[in-house]
Amino acid sequence: MQVKEKFWWTNWSQTYTKKAKCYYQPITTEQILSIVKTAVTYNFTLKVVGGSHSPSDIALSEDLILNLDKYSKVLSIDREKAQIQVQAGIKLRDLNRHLSNAGLALSNLGSIDEQSIAGAISTGTHGTGGKYGVLGSSVIGLEIITSSGEIVKCSKTENPELFSAARCGLGALGIIITVTLQCEPAYNLHVVEYPSRYSHVVDNLATIRDSAEHVRIWWFPYTDWCWVWTANRTQQPVRKSSGQHLLAYYLDNIWIRFYLLQFLLLLSTFVSGLVPWIISLYRFLFFSRKIESVEVSHKAFTFDCLFAQHVSEWVVPTTKAKNALNEVKQIIETTKSYQFKFIPNPDKLESDKDLKGELETKIEAHFPIEIRFSQSDDDIALSPTRNLEDGGCWIGVIVYKPFFREPLFTKHFFEQFEKIMFKLNGRPHWAKPFFQDIVKGSESQQGESKKGALYDF
Ligand SMILES: Cc1cc2nc3c(=O)[nH]c(=O)nc-3n(C[C@H](O)[C@H](O)[C@H](O)COP(=O)(O)OP(=O)(O)OC[C@H]3O[C@@H](n4cnc5c(N)ncnc54)[C@H](O)[C@@H]3O)c2cc1C
Repeated sequence: MQVKEKFWWTNWSQTYTKKAKCYYQPITTEQILSIVKTAVTYNFTLKVVGGSHSPSDIALSEDLILNLDKYSKVLSIDREKAQIQVQAGIKLRDLNRHLSNAGLALSNLGSIDEQSIAGAISTGTHGTGGKYGVLGSSVIGLEIITSSGEIVKCSKTENPELFSAARCGLGALGIIITVTLQCEPAYNLHVVEYPSRYSHVVDNLATIRDSAEHVRIWWFPYTDWCWVWTANRTQQPVRKSSGQHLLAYYLDNIWIRFYLLQFLLLLSTFVSGLVPWIISLYRFLFFSRKIESVEVSHKAFTFDCLFAQHVSEWVVPTTKAKNALNEVKQIIETTKSYQFKFIPNPDKLESDKDLKGELETKIEAHFPIEIRFSQSDDDIALSPTRNLEDGGCWIGVIVYKPFFREPLFTKHFFEQFEKIMFKLNGRPHWAKPFFQDIVKGSESQQGESKKGALYDF
C-alpha cells in the first residue's frame, strides 16, 4: 500500500487545494479496514477521494485521504443479465473498456469518463436523457465499510434505506468498496447535431427532449444560437462525422479547440469585452452546420471538456426551465461588459474604484451554457432529481480558467445564476460549488423556508 504524509490534494480544476495529514492508496480490503481503524482510534476525519474531478470541495479533507485507484478490479460479469460487479475505485474509462470487451455498456454517461464509479455515483453524476436517471440509478448493489469497521451489503431488498441513501451518499456514508451495475448489451449511437435558434429551443424544450433518447443542448450566450445534440441507439456501424465546416474539419482537435481557444480566453482575462467575440467566432467555426455520425455509446456520450474551469449546475423542474433560461439570458445581457478595458491585475484595483465596482457587478459568461435532462429518481434519497414532476432539466454555466489564470468576472455571475435557480425550486449538483449561505444571507427568511421545502427528505 502506498502511504504519503503531508499530502497536498487538489481537484482537477485547481480550484480547491488542501494539505492532508496522510494519503493512503490501499490494494486490499484488509488495508482499508485498518485505515478506518486508525482514523477512528485517533479521531481523524477520513475522506475517500476518487478521480478528484469534483469542481467543488466535496472531496476535501485535512486529516486522512483514502484513494482507491489501486482497488479497481472487475469482480464478476454476468453477460446474460448484463450485470457487472467492480471494486469501487475503477475509473469509468476502464469500466467502459471491460464492459465493451464483454459486449455490454452503461445505459448513460456524463461528459467525461475520468471519474471513479464510486465518486460518480456519490455525487449524483448524470448524463442526459428524459427517460434516464442519474448514474446511481443503474446501481443494483453496494458493499460499504462503515466507521465501525463493518462491511454492509445493500440493495433494493437488503438494507433498502441504506441503499437509497448510498446511491448518492456524498462520501458521507462510509466507504463504498464494491458496486454492482445493471448494464445493457453494447450499442452504437446515431448522433445528429444541429444549430437551432435560442427562442425555438426554449419554446420547445420538452418536445426537443423527447425527440431522441439522449438530448443535450449547448447555448452560446451573446448569440441567438444553440447547438442541439441528439442520440439514438442504432444497429448501424461506426461512421465518423460528416457535414462539418471545412476549416473546422482540418483544425478540430489539433490546436484550435485547445490552444487557440485557451489563448483567446487568456487575453480576455486581461482585456474586458472580448468574450462575446470569442464565443461568436468559436460557434461559427464549430457549431454552425448540421453534422451526423455513428459512434460506440461511451465514445459518443463523452467529449473533451478542454481545460480548467469554474462551473455551477442546477436542476430545475422541466416546466420551469424556460423561465430559468430566460432569466439567465437577461442577467447575462444586461450586465455585459461592453467596453474593451485593459485590466492586467484585477486584484490590485484599490485606487480605481469605478473599475473595481465594474468587476463586481458585470458578467462575462463563457460557453456553452449546457442544458440536459433526467427523469425523476424517486428512490434515491439525495438525488437532486428526486420527485420532480415531468423530470428535471439541468442547467450548467461555465467560466474557463485559461492556463489556470482567473477570469475577470466570475463571482457575480455565479451568485446571480444561483439566485435564479434557487428561486425556481432548483437543486444544485452536489459536486459543483454553490453558495447557499449567500442566498440565505440576502434573502434570509425566504431562503430558509425554501430550503426546507426542497430538501424535505
Ligand atoms: C471536466 C468535468 C466534466 C464533468 N462532467 C460531468 C457530467 O457530465 N455530469 C455530471 O453530473 N458531473 C460531471 N462532472 C462532475 C463529476 O462527475 C463529479 O464531480 C464526480 O463526483 C467526480 O468523480 P470522482 O471519482 O472524481 O470523485 P471525487 O471528486 O474524487 O469525489 C466525489 C465524492 O465522492 C466521494 N467518494 C469517492 N469515492 C468514494 C467511495 N469509494 N466511497 C464513498 N464515497 C466516495 C468523495 O468522498 C466525494 O465526496 C464533471 C467534472 C469535470 C471536472
